[in-house]
Order: sequence, then structure tokens, then C-alpha cells
Amino acid sequence: MIVVQIGQLAKQLGVHRNTIRNWIRSGRLPARRVPGKRYVLDEDEFIRLCHTYGLDASAIQGRQVPSPSALPFDPKEEAEGAVVVEGRSRTFRAVPQWADVCINCGSCAGVCPLAGVDGWDPRKVVRMAVLGMERELGESLWPWKCTLCAQCEQVCPAGVDITGLMMALRQSWDRDRVPGALHRGVVTLLETGNNLGIPREDFTACCQAVARELAETECSGFQLPLDVQGARLLVTVNSKEPFAEPRQMKHWWKIFYAAGESWTLCSEFWDGVQWGYFTGDEEAVRVSVGRVVDAMRRLGCEALLLPECGHAYYAFRLALHRWYAQEAKRFQVLTLFDLLAGYLHTGRLQVRSDGYPGIVTYHDPCHVTRKSLKAFGQAYDEQARDIVRRCCSRFVEMVPNREDAYCCGAGGGLSALPFHEERVFFGRHKARQIRRTGASLVVTACHTCRDQILKALCKEYDLNVDVKLLWELVAEALVMPHATNDGVQI
Ligand code: SF4
Ligand code: SF4
Repeated sequence: MIVVQIGQLAKQLGVHRNTIRNWIRSGRLPARRVPGKRYVLDEDEFIRLCHTYGLDASAIQGRQVPSPSALPFDPKEEAEGAVVVEGRSRTFRAVPQWADVCINCGSCAGVCPLAGVDGWDPRKVVRMAVLGMERELGESLWPWKCTLCAQCEQVCPAGVDITGLMMALRQSWDRDRVPGALHRGVVTLLETGNNLGIPREDFTACCQAVARELAETECSGFQLPLDVQGARLLVTVNSKEPFAEPRQMKHWWKIFYAAGESWTLCSEFWDGVQWGYFTGDEEAVRVSVGRVVDAMRRLGCEALLLPECGHAYYAFRLALHRWYAQEAKRFQVLTLFDLLAGYLHTGRLQVRSDGYPGIVTYHDPCHVTRKSLKAFGQAYDEQARDIVRRCCSRFVEMVPNREDAYCCGAGGGLSALPFHEERVFFGRHKARQIRRTGASLVVTACHTCRDQILKALCKEYDLNVDVKLLWELVAEALVMPHATNDGVQI
């Protein structure tokens, strides 16, 4: 038996304190609480667990005791142990240079679809910040209604980091005041590995059921690759899929089957969603990204695919540069555009050009166009159009598009916030653009955009269109390879 403190143990192993707490709560690490916020661990079990997670158990330093009863048990201390969400600044501070560079031209307010709501606009927020009106800013819900779309920054002649300002304001909020489900989702992610709290057994059972259905219908011999050591590609999942739309997972799996890809899911840390990015909870993002980085190392994968493009790819890549620069050199982070375009250009995938017979338009998600261009120097707009055009013959653009495209109105975590009316109002430009194309299908590459257009804008603005995800369009247009009885493709 060994006595340790959680913080000390977490530091020695290079994991978050909540990870250790989760191991203990789930029974994966047999331990009991003793006075002084310490735990008595079974050493053999601990070493076994470290081995499972690829951690160095020899790093542990604690006091040896013959048995837990050697230390008295205190039930009051046992009751402690709430999840700790750390790593944020409670005090908002404006960047002084904004006062010098902002010329109060109003361009940001001119393009912001939310300008005027609650009497706010981005120019006003910038002004108030530089005037030190922290209390008034801290009381406004406006930064939570802002979708972080960055359209204001795009037109700002002075280069003011307006979304950075909105993020700083969000970060300054007490966690228990964060509206809607966002903070609860962050805590659940830290506690369980995914923001909806889906148990590992339920996730694997759900995936297995979908895999069986796929094997019986379109992909003979398909088998779900879970925790496959040495697979080329590790793929994350949007928790929305196993929770509400499990058959959506089939589209990617069908593509991997047709391309003969070597891929795997991680049965524990499979969630690609990063709600900590929306609440400005840097520590939560660092921890959850670190878990995926660790899974890459443990499974020995060469590349990581974050197929939910919305914020997941963007937030993950920012975190990777910031906290895991060394680890990031060991693997490639692929966007769904890189992967699909690569398959199609090399002939690994064949698609029918009449995959969808009607008029199709494409909605650019902010994070992979405007925001990726600014942060990473690359927008994934041309690749997206190339992929869509290969699967249909009648493509029409919305205007404006690419990095000037209007946000759908649900970004920035708005889909999980109680501001439905604002979301619908925000999306009015997008609804008008869609109607003008005459399209019967809108393709996009983000779950949130898809849900906002399909479930909110279609209903509220009487749009008669279907909405598909880019990989769904590709999966439906696929020319499937033949398969032998044992599932090997020929
Ligand atoms: S566009 Fe830029 S310079 Fe003009 S008011 Fe907005 S923040 Fe200030
Ligand atoms: S990021 Fe988008 S919603 Fe937020 S202030 Fe700028 S234009 Fe408006």
C-alpha cells in the first residue's frame, strides 16, 4: 500500500488531477481517502493501471504503509472531491493597444449579424473594454450570444482581435454563472471522457451495433476497429452521433472500408468536442487534448482525423501548438478535407458524379475557412468545393462565400446555449443566401452548422432544403469495391 496526494500523483504522472479522481471513482484504481487529502492505493493495481495507460509507474513517490487501516478514515473528507476546473483568469483585462488602434469606424458593427441585439455591437464592446468598463461588460450576456464567427475581425482595418476579446470576457465569468449546458458539458468531459457522459460500455455497444448493421448491408465483413495498436489513423467522434444519431457514424466507416484505410477508434477518449474552448476553460482543453495525444502515443498511430470540423479541429490544433508541440511532431493532424481530397485524387475512392441529382450549394463553416486562414494560414474552402463537385453535377455558390461567408448563427457554442431567438435572428442572412441559390441540398462540414440550418433555419424561414454533411454526401456517392466472403476487398 502506498499513500499519495492526488495533485502530487497527477504531477508525477503528467495527467490531470481529475483523471486520477475518475480512476478512483470508477473503481479502476482501488483507493481510499484518508486524512490530509491523501489516498491509500494498492500498489500492484496502480502499476497495472499505469501500464494500461502507458504511464511510468516508477515515477510515483509516496509513503509506504502496511494497510489502509494504518491510517484513520474520515467520512467528512471522503465526501469531498468535486471536479476542479482550473486554469482561467477571473479578471478581464483589456489590451491597452486596442485604444490606440481602434478608429471607431463601425465596420465590425456593420457586418455583425448580431449588432443591435440587447443594444450591443462589437464596436461598443471594444470601446467599453478600453474604457475599463469591466463591471458592465461582465454583466452582459452579449459575449455568449456572439458566435465567435470572426466576421468582424475580417473587416476590421485595424486588426483588433475582437473574438479574442469575446473569449476573454467569457473566460472571466464564474463557472456557475455560465449559461446553458456548456460548463456542465466541460465537467462531464473531464469526469467521463466525453461531454455527454456516455459510459465506455454503452459507446462500444452502440458502435458494435452500427458496425453489425453496416456489415450486413453495405460493407460485407466490416469489423469495428477499437483500440487497434498500430493503426495508421486514429479517428475521433462527435458525441452527438453515438448519443442521438448513431447511424451518422456509418458514413465515415463506409468511406474507410472503401478506401481500405487502416484506422481505429479509442474506446475511452473518443470525443472530439472541446466545449472548454467555448467557455475559455484552457485547462479543460489542455487536459482533453492531452488525452487524445496520449491515445495517439499508446496506439502508435501516424495520423489523427478530427472529422467534426466545427470547432473541434480548430481548438485541437491550437491546443496542440500551445501545449504539445513536441508530441505534435510525431504525428500528422488531418482535416476531413485533406483526407477525402487525398482519397479522391489518388483514386482510392471512386464516386458517382450524379451522387446527388439536384442543385447543391455549400455552406462554409467559420472555423475551417476564415478562422483557419487567420490561425494556420490555410482555409479549407477550395478542397471542400472540389469534393462536392465530384459528387454532383449542379453546384451553385452562395454569395458571399469562402472566408467572407456568413456564419449560420449557431457557432461559439450557441447550439448549447438558451438563446434560440437570437440564433434564428442571426441566421437570417444565411437563410436568404440559401434561398437565392435555388438549391435543394445544402452541404456543409460541421454538425452544428448542419443542425442549425436543418432544424432551425429551415423551420423558421420556410426553407425547403435538405442538409447533408460533406462525408455523408461522399459516402452516398461512393462506388463500393467488391468484397469477398471473408470481407477482404478486391
Ligand atoms: S472595425 Fe476595428 S477599428 Fe473599426 S470600430 Fe470595429 S474594432 Fe474599431
Ligand atoms: S465574432 Fe461574429 S457574432 Fe461576434 S461580434 Fe464578431 S461578427 Fe458579431
